[in-house]
Amino acid sequence: IVQLYVPLNWFGTYYRAIQKNFVDMENMFDLLRVDSDVKDVPGAPDLLIRRGGIEFKHVSFGYGPERLVLNDISFKVAPGSTVALVGPSGAGKSTVMRLLFRFYDVNGGAVLVDGQDVATVTQASLRAAIGVVPQDTVLFNNTVRYNIQYGRLTASSSDIIAAAKNADIHDRILTFPDAYDTQVGERGLRLSGGEKQRIAIARTLLKDPAIVLLDEATSALDTNTERNIQSALARVCANRTTLIIAHRLSTIIHADEILVLKDGEIVERGNHEALLALEGVYASMWHQQLESRNSNGNGNGNNETN
Ligand code: ATP
Repeated sequence: IVQLYVPLNWFGTYYRAIQKNFVDMENMFDLLRVDSDVKDVPGAPDLLIRRGGIEFKHVSFGYGPERLVLNDISFKVAPGSTVALVGPSGAGKSTVMRLLFRFYDVNGGAVLVDGQDVATVTQASLRAAIGVVPQDTVLFNNTVRYNIQYGRLTASSSDIIAAAKNADIHDRILTFPDAYDTQVGERGLRLSGGEKQRIAIARTLLKDPAIVLLDEATSALDTNTERNIQSALARVCANRTTLIIAHRLSTIIHADEILVLKDGEIVERGNHEALLALEGVYASMWHQQLESRNSNGNGNGNNETN
């Protein structure tokens, strides 16, 4: 099932057509901004970031005029808390993330960060406040050091090493031929999916944003890799406002709130226990994952929701 599933990534078709040329989410947003309809309003102030509270207020959005992809979505992510988005493929989870990053403007309602409408502040200041850990990190054709340092170009060597340690990737880097100076990416050492994700985590730790957007990998990682990544992810989310797209429900049982999206609407919301008690969409997704975990015996719940 996992192999047959082709994830509809952040940017759908457009993204897939050009993804080869782009290095990571934030960089991609920067480059695309040139062609995007989204412009800073003249004289827009910078976002005054405090603790990164997020609010979606009656947000409606469609990629084209013919169809709304999100229909009157309202939710809050309190500063420092974690909200998870779950739901079937195409439900609109990635779209929520894109709107927070203001990759598109909403058709109705507003997206607020620390009380400021994202459409009214500079995009640069908004994006500086948000760290993204994507499903598939594409690395720069450069050294490991540079790939981490990209999170904050002025970071010192010891900051880079501290971030790598916190992301559980430092020891692994020391086994590379030239340690931190090893060339990685297409033309260098090829890293595993788990290693690349930990580089992305180190980069985000270095950036130290108030808000973290996490797009959980859909592909199954082995149990040990998974455990390492989970603890590194926990560190990157700690004390930060976190919005996570979750595919394995086992990873979000401690989320402050889980939003179940279906056809662009929030059909259920609450924490894990409350949603199980509802015996609705979430509960059936949960039981389905438990079942397939038991039947394939891998014991780590690495099955998808979609
Ligand atoms: P998945 O879990 O598969 O990533 P998702 O819940 O993240 O799905 P979205 O990627 O937000 O879903 O997509 C929501 C809807 O918007 C889908 O019907 C999708 O086909 C459509 N869509 C997504 N991106 C675009 C785009 N760039 N242009 C037009 N339609 C799009």
